[in-house]
Amino acid sequence: MKIITDERCAGYSRPGHPERPGRIIASIELLRNQTELPIEWTEPGQASDAQILRAHSPEHLARLNEHMDFDDDTPFYENIAGFARASAAAALTALTAARKGESVFSLMRPPGHHATRDRAMGFCYLNNIAIAALEAAATGDSRDEALAKAGAKRVAVFDFDVHHGNGTEAILLDRPGIAFFSVHLYPFYPHTGAANAGKNCFNYPVAPYDPRETYRATLAQALDDLKKFQPGLVAVSAGFDAYERDPLVQGVLVADDFYWLGQSLRALGVPMFSLLEGGYSRDLPELIFAYLKGVEGK
Ligand SMILES: [Zn+2]
Repeated sequence: MKIITDERCAGYSRPGHPERPGRIIASIELLRNQTELPIEWTEPGQASDAQILRAHSPEHLARLNEHMDFDDDTPFYENIAGFARASAAAALTALTAARKGESVFSLMRPPGHHATRDRAMGFCYLNNIAIAALEAAATGDSRDEALAKAGAKRVAVFDFDVHHGNGTEAILLDRPGIAFFSVHLYPFYPHTGAANAGKNCFNYPVAPYDPRETYRATLAQALDDLKKFQPGLVAVSAGFDAYERDPLVQGVLVADDFYWLGQSLRALGVPMFSLLEGGYSRDLPELIFAYLKGVEGK
């Protein structure tokens, strides 16, 4: 398992904000101290303006340097543009690793799936998963011609964060060769994702207080539909805030469900990579570890 991280991404914080450095620091510590899963540690690398601008406007990129909060959830931090770029770069590095057939997870902050083309929101500044998916679609897969013909240019994004990936949907809407599948609570922040959008964005809203069995069945349905799309590559927005003890949300999932998600994604038999989105409980490191074990088939 390759883990892309950079302890410098713990370099910004605001007291009381749930999207805090400890999420990454504690996860790195658990992964360093375990022996079940051999890990290769990698740094994020670089993201070019051209790669970022497939998903965002130049005005948005410039706005990240203005010393003004984006909304109540999404503060301006000194050098947030640099932290957001590193997180996006890690997504691109994860894509490269997936294409080589490696198991890979980007353990970075800030998360990205709420960031739209023009707007930072919901703790997100740049949309890491959309930047990587658009890079994947633009550069195709030159590794194997047979694989390319079999649909390796089709990129699926699967988002199991408890919140709807509104930014990812807005950016990927009707982009050829890409499909977006999101399972989330509705009605709930950001109050989108009640129905499918365009030709390629498929939403699976779960009602608050629906039981765990319903949530699991909905995830399974979304994965079945994703499989029918026959992607050559799967990019996963891995959020762990549908967990029963997450402080932001009345979630219902347990650690075993994240293990099952990893296993189910592995069973697709398609190159894939995952990026950390949400997940705010103290148990986040264990949830990530459970998911990674599933992805590795341990
Ligand atoms: Zn979330």
